[in-house]
Amino acid sequence: MVSLTFYGGVDEIGGNKVLLKDGDTRVFFDFGQSFTMGCEFFTSWLAPRGINGLGDYFEFGLLPKLKGLYAKEQLECTDVPYVKPRFDAVFLSHAHFDHVTHIQFLDPEIPVFLGVGTKLFLEAMEKTSSFTRYGEHEYRTFRTGDKIKVGGLVVEPVHVDHSIPAAYGFLIHTSGGTVVYSGDLRAHGPRRDMTEEFIDKARDCEPVTMVCEGTRMVEKEKRKNYSEQQVKTLSSKVVSSTKKIVFVTRYSRDMDRFRSFYNVAKSNGRKIVVSPKTAHLLSRLVEDKRLDLPDPLKDENILVYYKRKKSGEFEQKDYYVWEREFMDKLATYEFVHENQGELVMDLDFYQFAELIDVKPKAGSHFIHSMSEPYSEEDIEDQVMHNWLDHFRMQFHQLHASGHLNRPQLTHLVNDINAKRIFPVHTENQQLFKDTTSNVQMIKYAKEFAL
Ligand SMILES: [Zn+2]
Repeated sequence: MVSLTFYGGVDEIGGNKVLLKDGDTRVFFDFGQSFTMGCEFFTSWLAPRGINGLGDYFEFGLLPKLKGLYAKEQLECTDVPYVKPRFDAVFLSHAHFDHVTHIQFLDPEIPVFLGVGTKLFLEAMEKTSSFTRYGEHEYRTFRTGDKIKVGGLVVEPVHVDHSIPAAYGFLIHTSGGTVVYSGDLRAHGPRRDMTEEFIDKARDCEPVTMVCEGTRMVEKEKRKNYSEQQVKTLSSKVVSSTKKIVFVTRYSRDMDRFRSFYNVAKSNGRKIVVSPKTAHLLSRLVEDKRLDLPDPLKDENILVYYKRKKSGEFEQKDYYVWEREFMDKLATYEFVHENQGELVMDLDFYQFAELIDVKPKAGSHFIHSMSEPYSEEDIEDQVMHNWLDHFRMQFHQLHASGHLNRPQLTHLVNDINAKRIFPVHTENQQLFKDTTSNVQMIKYAKEFAL
């Protein structure tokens, strides 16, 4: 018997944990953390205690109590006994938080399959963040074209266009036919051809089932979205129309967006200033030549901003070892202040205090290249605007989503033409019923036979 069980991504955007069973073979597709996980019980600094392993998570039912899945040390403070692995593999579609974070709890003996680029992302994030730990794993990397045999299954990863490099959908060949797992995908980024290739390959398998993401499956879209090309064109207009500095803020893992701003800066004769964290990530991702990203050590259009430390000297010893590598590309706050018209600066919201040192001229520009806030009471959004007003900066909202919109999702479902659709990663499963008659609404932890 072949079946699907959903332990995450049910009636919410993110946190996918999709279990596929085929006879004795049991494989998870993604093992992420939902963005709202435990928000009834945990908030801000009130968080699950690391020392209690899975104990604090099981207390509130935040992870499923499945035997043979978790690491021994994670189970020590729980009522779930440790047994040898009963799961054969975990496949990761891409390195977004809501698809990978909970692999930290997995038994290290369960192999984790992931794209070459996804592994580079995970390593860079562990290196540059003291909070991010994914645990010990036997990682096995794949690329499009590979066919990976796990027990009775053959898993075929196929690249897709998404707001992070190295994103994949999966064609899973089971004893009961092919199951398609979409991962997260879009068709308005620089690599729409990859999404098209995925759709073609999926259709050719005449799939029995598709597990389909539905982030933008909404009644009416309220927020403004552009294509990646439009973001680039409109940003270039902002930069070319001013002699003042332009700041941009974007999702740190969105390298298509980085490339857009890098090219906008370059074509306007400016350099782009990035954080050591972004420089480190780039220096790892250039190892994958297919990603076509600039090398921060060699590329003269990239400068690296080091925050002022107590010594005020910008000496190597003031910074982490992984940060020091880029000090030849040093941009201090004074340098940025003196060369405002020559620069585009990547500046994350949480680094806004640097504005106090940089002292941007009144009338400078700020491009917010992320989703618009979900509610008008969004505190961070209010704080961000208070800072922009304080420094008399001009605000621009320019963003391209990482996901297909509703008409595109309808096309996807109809093009691939699977016999049955399971909507995941969506708040509106029922809207999928407008795309096709064979929609199976999913429920948390319920097993669906295929
Ligand atoms: Zn994603």
